[in-house]
Amino acid sequence: MRSIVWFRGKDLRVADHGPLVEAAASGDMIPLFVLDPFFFAPERARELPHRMQFLLASLRELEANLARLGSRLLVVPGRSVDVVPRLAALWKVDRVLAHRWVEPFGRERDRRVGVALEREGIAFRLFEGETLLPPGSVRNGQGGMFRVFTPFGRACGMRLDLEPALAAPRALSPLPEDLAIETVSIPTMEDLGLLSNPQLQHGGEKAARARLKAFVGGPLADYGTDRDRMDRPGTSRLSADLKFGTLSVSTVWQAVVTAASGESGRRYLNELLWREFSHHLLWEWPELLEQPFRAEFQGFPWREDDASWLAWTEGHTGYPVVDAAARQLKAEGFVHNRARMVTASFLTKHLLLDYRQGEAHYMHWLTDGDWAQNSSGWQWSAGCGCDAQPWFRIFNPVAQGLKFDPDGDYVRRWVPELAGCPAAFIQEPWKAPKALRVCLDYPEPIVDHVLARQRFLATAKGHLGRGRPDRVEE
Ligand SMILES: Cc1cc2nc3c(=O)[nH]c(=O)nc-3n(C[C@H](O)[C@H](O)[C@H](O)COP(=O)(O)OP(=O)(O)OC[C@H]3O[C@@H](n4cnc5c(N)ncnc54)[C@H](O)[C@@H]3O)c2cc1C
Repeated sequence: MRSIVWFRGKDLRVADHGPLVEAAASGDMIPLFVLDPFFFAPERARELPHRMQFLLASLRELEANLARLGSRLLVVPGRSVDVVPRLAALWKVDRVLAHRWVEPFGRERDRRVGVALEREGIAFRLFEGETLLPPGSVRNGQGGMFRVFTPFGRACGMRLDLEPALAAPRALSPLPEDLAIETVSIPTMEDLGLLSNPQLQHGGEKAARARLKAFVGGPLADYGTDRDRMDRPGTSRLSADLKFGTLSVSTVWQAVVTAASGESGRRYLNELLWREFSHHLLWEWPELLEQPFRAEFQGFPWREDDASWLAWTEGHTGYPVVDAAARQLKAEGFVHNRARMVTASFLTKHLLLDYRQGEAHYMHWLTDGDWAQNSSGWQWSAGCGCDAQPWFRIFNPVAQGLKFDPDGDYVRRWVPELAGCPAAFIQEPWKAPKALRVCLDYPEPIVDHVLARQRFLATAKGHLGRGRPDRVEE
């Protein structure tokens, strides 16, 4: 039996890797990575600089790990739909093994590769692993996909007695000797015309394992209380690892279950179920990358306003938490979840700008930028997503700052103009005495919270034509 193990950017690891274990146990194994121009053409790579940096580092480590085990990662440029069937035939393999992707374009790619391989009489087997449970397998009483998170989470919980994660193979057989090989090196950031950002997390399996260990042995114990605090390192920071598969989601799940950390552990597992939910939603409704979940939001009269957009993207709105989030995003390729919710609500509700603009901006800069989670996070925040809460919930950026960044440390870190502002005014510096305000060199708010709120409610009510815009404010 000869197999290609096709690594595809969401499973950049040797531990808990079903295709690798399966292939290694049954004959010749050829690890392959395709540099598809869909991501790696320089003009495309420029659209995802932080994700590319994390991916390239993870790929380099995967290459080293496979070499250490006795094999070799073959890196080949070209369109996956052409390269994989061509090499599979050339190398006379019996089968191609890979992990399933949830995104519609990944599914279409796999459909086309599957058809081409079938023509050659070569098997194509997709393994589960991007999610805890196979997408499409968690159904409600009527056999459909859940439209609300809580019952979905409950239904998952009843089935989540996971098999132990697979250990990395101890050794791999060398590449077969008869391969005609046309490989290239893994490109550098410079090759793709990109600058490296030293503030980003390190990619690769080793750093991922260290992050998991540090989290389980530390912040996990207080996750229940600290996860919402923007000023504390209370979350796991494993989102990019889960996105690129330097850790499998079941490895993370099991590490937290084993740590038996009570309510904090349960809260954490619940977040992994939110991740699960967004992936299952996208599997069921691939059109969610283009359209709102709530159909009544189609054609919503979002505004066009370049000045507001610029202020939001550059972090000059005059609302400290919103500005801190904008700057953290570009500097670190990461934003705290609470800050993501506040700033996404601000863009869509206070500024009335299209959530898809914010969604694309986040996909550009986030290291953990993930189509399923980002799309559901933005739709949830805009009120048009899959959420039990009403669309007229509006985050008050000042109240959120006072509650989840009470001393203003998060703001001070990312908005240095406010470093000298006393905690009493840091979430609303426009209330500071004039003499202090002059020294701060920080803009006045670009919109008034109360007026912006009224504008959103009136616009939304006009468009949706129903609903009861009560005072729902967080
Ligand atoms: C507007 C918006 C956009 C978002 N875009 C992304 C994205 O592109 N990629 C991404 O991974 N997450 C996204 N999220 C979810 C969440 O903000 C991040 O997963 C989280 O901040 C990552 O930090 P962490 O790993 O320290 O999280 P932790 O609190 O340690 O959570 C552990 C893991 O659970 C998952 N998770 C946590 N919160 C959520 C959530 N609300 N929804 C879905 N999964 C969750 C993540 O995989 C995360 O790594 C978005 C949320 C919003 C509101």
